[in-house]
Amino acid sequence: MLSTQLTIAKNLLLNSALSPKAKLTLLKRLYAYKKHSTGRTVIFDISHVCNGRCYFCQTGFANRNNTPCKSQSGKQFVEVDFFHKILKHLKEQNFLNDGTQLHLFNWFEPLLHPEFASIIKTATQENCLIGLSTNANVLPKLPSDFDASRVVLLIFSMCGFSQQSYDKIHQFDFEHIKHNVERIVKDFRNHGCVGEMYISFHLYQFNLHELQAAYEWAKQLHINICPTFAYINDGPRLLQFFKKELSMDYLQEVSNSLFMGMYTKIFHPTTSCSLMNNITIEMDGQCDLCCGLDEKIGNVFDMTPEKLARIHYESPTCKECMALGIPCLERGVHCNMQQLANAFHQ
Ligand code: SF4
Ligand code: SF4
Repeated sequence: MLSTQLTIAKNLLLNSALSPKAKLTLLKRLYAYKKHSTGRTVIFDISHVCNGRCYFCQTGFANRNNTPCKSQSGKQFVEVDFFHKILKHLKEQNFLNDGTQLHLFNWFEPLLHPEFASIIKTATQENCLIGLSTNANVLPKLPSDFDASRVVLLIFSMCGFSQQSYDKIHQFDFEHIKHNVERIVKDFRNHGCVGEMYISFHLYQFNLHELQAAYEWAKQLHINICPTFAYINDGPRLLQFFKKELSMDYLQEVSNSLFMGMYTKIFHPTTSCSLMNNITIEMDGQCDLCCGLDEKIGNVFDMTPEKLARIHYESPTCKECMALGIPCLERGVHCNMQQLANAFHQ
């Protein structure tokens, strides 16, 4: 988060469209975040649908098999009033305060929400620091008074920098995605967003040669790029991988496309997991064990920080997960260009 804060501070000082008063307000917000930082993120999936068809993501895999994920209530998007009620509860329980971020995504696509602008307005009124991640296939409708000044993080998730790569993973039109990313960057900046924006570039065996072009493009857009080795972003199948229970077909795809060897290097049994600090909520108010596993643990209105800590402490799934070393995934997925070069020269 420190680098995010520095990026925001730099963007703030360089933004000539903001009045000195607005800059002061935003700087105070940053200071409050630093002072009260809890290390916790509130993860709230405002949608229960994604249009991507990414093979190694559990949502995309379900889409490819024509069995799209369904919420318990059967609804696809959180209602704005219900969202507001949950935010108030999260604040009362101190899950949300000046030192936490509210991420409006996990397994689904937030920009598909038909009332996306109202969701942001509500979170802004409740003084939240908002994080978003999008595949950029759909542009949200933004009213002229849209206020993006509380969006502190905006991630563009990309599976490469060519139509061939997009055909393999997201199955979107690549030029359309580029156009949308450019538009979203411009629109959010014009609406007061000084937060960090970056491309999460998923490295597959077939797209390493596309990274340089993506870097150049990100530079033109004045946003960052974070290359990340793609992995089995699918809780149940990741567990199966480590327990050597994956089907041969799936394993074949893994060995053709991913660098799971990079991960098996860093996994080791552990007794702690940073994800336990977070609370993960689905659009209908059900809480998941964590952002990586959608095992249901109860309704958000029954949840307190103490109860959540006890659930994690007693969870057999968490015990198995830590014994397998899966929480190490949090620390080792990102790489810079130098690490990438080193990895391939070893
Ligand atoms: S990785 Fe992202 S874009 Fe792809 S299916 Fe999963 S949620 Fe959708
Ligand atoms: S130990 Fe595993 S299952 Fe438990 S919170 Fe961490 S990543 Fe999730």
